[in-house]
Amino acid sequence: MKIGLKLVFFLIILNFKVVYTQTKSPSEFLGFKLGERFTNHYQVINYFNHIADNNGNVKLIKYGETYEGRPLHLAMITSSKNYSNLENIRKNQLRAAGLIEGNFQKNDIAIVWLSYNVHGNEAVSTEVSMKTIYELVNPNNQNTKQWLENTVVIIDPCINPDGRERYVNWYNQKGNFPYNKNPDAAEHHEPWPGGRANHYLFDLNRDWAWATQKETQNRLVVYNEWLPNIHVDFHEQGVDQPYYFAPAAQPYHELLTDFQKDFQVTIGKNNAKYFDKNGWLYFTKEFFDLLYPSYGDTYPMNNGAIGMTYEQGGSGRAGLGIINKEGDELTLKDRIAHHFTTSMSTIEISSLNANKLSEEFYNYFKNANDPKGNYKTYILKNDNVDRINGLTKLLDRHKIEYGSVNSDKTYKGFSYITNEREKFKISENDLIVSTYQPKSNLVNALFEPHTKLSDSLTYDITAWSLPYARGLEAFATEDKIPVQPFKNKTVRTSLNDEVKPYAYISKWNSIEDVSFLAYLLQKKIKARFSKKPFSIDDKEYGAGSLIITRTGNQNNSYFDSIVKVAAKKFDRNVLAVNSGFVQSGKDFGSSSVTYIKPPKIAVLSGKGVSSLGFGAIWHFFEQQIQYQINVIDTDYFSSIDFHDYDVIILPSGNYNKLLNKNNLDDLGEWVQNGGNLIAINSALSVFASSDNFDISVYEDEKTKEAAEKSKDSLRKELRLKQYNTKERNYISNIINGGVFKATLDNTNPLGFGYKNYYYTLRQGSKRYAYLKNGNNVSVIKDKSDLVSGFVGKNAISSINESLVFGIENKGKGTVVYLVDDPLFRSFWENGKLLFSNAVFMVGQ
Ligand SMILES: [Zn+2]
Repeated sequence: MKIGLKLVFFLIILNFKVVYTQTKSPSEFLGFKLGERFTNHYQVINYFNHIADNNGNVKLIKYGETYEGRPLHLAMITSSKNYSNLENIRKNQLRAAGLIEGNFQKNDIAIVWLSYNVHGNEAVSTEVSMKTIYELVNPNNQNTKQWLENTVVIIDPCINPDGRERYVNWYNQKGNFPYNKNPDAAEHHEPWPGGRANHYLFDLNRDWAWATQKETQNRLVVYNEWLPNIHVDFHEQGVDQPYYFAPAAQPYHELLTDFQKDFQVTIGKNNAKYFDKNGWLYFTKEFFDLLYPSYGDTYPMNNGAIGMTYEQGGSGRAGLGIINKEGDELTLKDRIAHHFTTSMSTIEISSLNANKLSEEFYNYFKNANDPKGNYKTYILKNDNVDRINGLTKLLDRHKIEYGSVNSDKTYKGFSYITNEREKFKISENDLIVSTYQPKSNLVNALFEPHTKLSDSLTYDITAWSLPYARGLEAFATEDKIPVQPFKNKTVRTSLNDEVKPYAYISKWNSIEDVSFLAYLLQKKIKARFSKKPFSIDDKEYGAGSLIITRTGNQNNSYFDSIVKVAAKKFDRNVLAVNSGFVQSGKDFGSSSVTYIKPPKIAVLSGKGVSSLGFGAIWHFFEQQIQYQINVIDTDYFSSIDFHDYDVIILPSGNYNKLLNKNNLDDLGEWVQNGGNLIAINSALSVFASSDNFDISVYEDEKTKEAAEKSKDSLRKELRLKQYNTKERNYISNIINGGVFKATLDNTNPLGFGYKNYYYTLRQGSKRYAYLKNGNNVSVIKDKSDLVSGFVGKNAISSINESLVFGIENKGKGTVVYLVDDPLFRSFWENGKLLFSNAVFMVGQ
């Protein structure tokens, strides 16, 4: 009996011991020490599964997949007590924010969200995530155990697995054994396009607010289900930089609260304490600002959290070890130690201040009753149903409420079109976004026409306002306008199955119309477009409208059913008509109604091409309109037969090497024979320096002077300036993503579907002259066209008569010059139709 009891007791102890030893450290689990090599993503996920399997207080969820099919995971860790109450904690957080019904119960629990490795080749972060989660469950770590009593830690081990694997696989293949710390060694020089971006080469740290990428879209769902108190985005900067952590640099968005700013300092000081103790270098308050609302720090800030960026020196350059400019070696192990230290320090300080964090989070969302910011209501005119629908889809992702009004009423406010205060009428169809809602600060950050700049030295663009980005007529008013649930009054006609009409007609003013056309063309349906506006059956159609006649499609026995399926699939209001005789405009047999030859498209990619510029085009065709393109690498571009293609697209890039005189002549000859060449942004410069193309850099006496000045006198001037004003002089010459209301010739196929203006996002100060012989389809006339954003004083004084978009006709072909990238980050929705016009309509 006695022995029996002892045995049972012994077995219990043994059993406990077994539970403890089952949780392995990353090194035990992986079979190598962290920092000795880069861990592949599947191994990281296996390790997180291992942790979740062996610890009752860890929840692992899969929240999505990447384009390449890798899983996206989140781990949630807290004390056993909190764990059994996890769903209540989550709901309570949303109640504090006012996003779900019910009263917030003060619980003094902080939710800390650690996001690792948004930039794939800043590959240390994911390694750190394993060490972080291990220490949070390590039974011997008394600190973490205590912190978890009032903290829920959410860990995303890798935001961007596709990019990281691109880097890690490359490094593991290219790296030497043992690694070579000489910076010249090939293992420190990633090939194009590098591992920073995701599959479609988007920078996911610019995508939070626009949510153009699958990774972001998936993450926003869970992010908005939790709304953490703290969010850290782990990064790496250059090899020679030390470590950066909060507080952030100016400019800050003006709606950040004092508590948010103060708590960044509190966190920073806690991090500094550990860095000081170890003698590690760091900096704060410099370089990384809090303005552009689409980062992993600003987006959380605009959602009530303390959002931060932490930057370790290293990145894709650093490998397992590299000698920096001071002659010291920076190893992956060092990088792990630093990011791990700030991970722990952040959890610690959050735990110590959990009750303050919880209270201030609640206060933040009190804005719902008393919103900050000048404007209380934003009004979007519903004159383009597809664009309004696209916007509401985005607002849904952010849990931003919107609505409409019951009756027409007149208000006074700021007009985005005229850039002035005026009277305007709200109608029942218009979309109303009030700031009297929990997400009021986010609403203001995304909609306000002018973002206040406390400092013009920012890391990114200074204008992004959604009405401009989406080309919507809008107003902002100081008045509170009560809203009703949104009624989107769109009437879709369903085509009768029996009908075998003379032709089908569909409008052309949105990206959904482009998808509809792309689908039809790939189903071998012959389509036409009208070069002139027309009316038929008492309905008005603008230039560019699609006319799909039975003529040309008689031999396709599925003709009617394909058009009907497409109309349904893309929700198009397609009109069936029994005659080609129009009430006004040109009849369907007119030469003004043009057959659309399905273009075979080549897009350049590879060395010399901007990976971001190319990626946006790739994503546009493949994911947005689903039209097949041929990606051609610059390595062998000159050996392909251009005549196999109808359209060749040169994304932004440096083509000076690729397009030598011979290649440029070949390309010119291909255009003469009917090719449609589309050159975007910096791709224009190679054509501007050739005499065979109409595009040229603007040159008048003033510009020459300015050029001279920038070369010599400016340098001289700078030498005489105080050292600390140099940066300021530099910025007077730049344009930091300013929005201009450019004129647009909407009778030209490139402008079909638009009004007679186009909001363009100008990022550089390079100015191209009006084409001498071609069509200047869109131009900035003078500085009064600037509507939003920061433009340096020298840059604005030399903006007049700038080309935005132009077309040169050469023989049977065309060259389309797109000075500003219409697909920028894929968030400039306003440019997508114009880009589609360049591809499908110009040159037909
Ligand atoms: Zn980064």
